[in-house]
Amino acid sequence: MNLKDIVRPNIWNLKPYSSARSEFKGEASVWLDANENPLNDPYNRYPDPLQMQVKSAIARQKGVAEENIFLGVGSDECIDLVYRTFCRPGVDNVVAISPSYGMYEVCADVNDVEYRKVALYSDFSLDADALIAAIDQNTRAIWICSPNNPTGNAFDSRLLADICRRAENCIVVIDEAYIDFSAQPTMLNRLNELPNLIVLQTFSKAWGSAAVRLGMAFASREIIEIFNKVKYPYNVNKLTQDYALKLLERHSQVRDWVAMLLQQRASLIARLQHIAVVKHIYATDANFVLVRVSDACDIYQYLCRRGIIVRNRHRVQLCEQCLRITVGTQDENDSLIQALEEYGK
Ligand SMILES: *Cc1c(COP(=O)(O)O)cnc(C)c1O
Repeated sequence: MNLKDIVRPNIWNLKPYSSARSEFKGEASVWLDANENPLNDPYNRYPDPLQMQVKSAIARQKGVAEENIFLGVGSDECIDLVYRTFCRPGVDNVVAISPSYGMYEVCADVNDVEYRKVALYSDFSLDADALIAAIDQNTRAIWICSPNNPTGNAFDSRLLADICRRAENCIVVIDEAYIDFSAQPTMLNRLNELPNLIVLQTFSKAWGSAAVRLGMAFASREIIEIFNKVKYPYNVNKLTQDYALKLLERHSQVRDWVAMLLQQRASLIARLQHIAVVKHIYATDANFVLVRVSDACDIYQYLCRRGIIVRNRHRVQLCEQCLRITVGTQDENDSLIQALEEYGK
């Protein structure tokens, strides 16, 4: 893959905004370069545009070099950046598995990029040949979410690596938002062998910080450098950077959360098996379970009336009569099970 051939020409030639904070780096005692207010320390100063301290902590934990990390305002920013960097509006297209995460298609529409859906098999496994067959000269990216939302299953990492090699002239994005809950290994350690791979992870799920809006993209140094040119100069604010640094120091806490949620997941699945309206429970590698029920819309409405909100996926391709249920605390899961037991009584 020649990166120049798949980056939009205007982006390839872009001269990025040069902020005061990126022009002078180093130690000083008097900062009169950025028209900041000298009062209200520490929030008066613009934050580090490249978030080097946070990246350094992430690099240590994940065994990835800092130059291979991009931080965005949630994965959502990283998803949008893929379009803004690689896809010429009205000309290029992307290919994605279906069903999958809704933001890929919304961002395609916003950027006027054709979105080509390739259906999974009915057991939610992946048809790699169909995915590759959907590619043409103007395909710039392939979206694969693993573990996939809303189906819950992860794809074999060797199959994903194989797709990267077969689709060598486009970007392959593997969205690993739920990877901490999965038995499948992350693709992060394959970045060096797969130059067209972008891996997305987030602080929103296992890291318990959806409110904070912090997402990560991992890719080659060349791709990360282009993302850094295109992003807003100060996309990740100081409150978020400080918070992330503290949480990264407490990563044993995150491990404990994940262990607790995996235990709750197993117990929730075991109890759902005894509920009369539950027709099928799909295997899951995530912190949610996709469940086929007798009447998804009616059960969804019933649960809402009881103050319990799940996600009705009935109208999603291959998910007829399915509810997507997030694994909660013991108490929350108890309430759900009790309500389902009392449905129709
Ligand atoms: C929840 C989720 C995310 C997280 O997005 P953020 O913008 O980081 O909160 C990303 N991808 C998928 C598939 C998700 O389900």
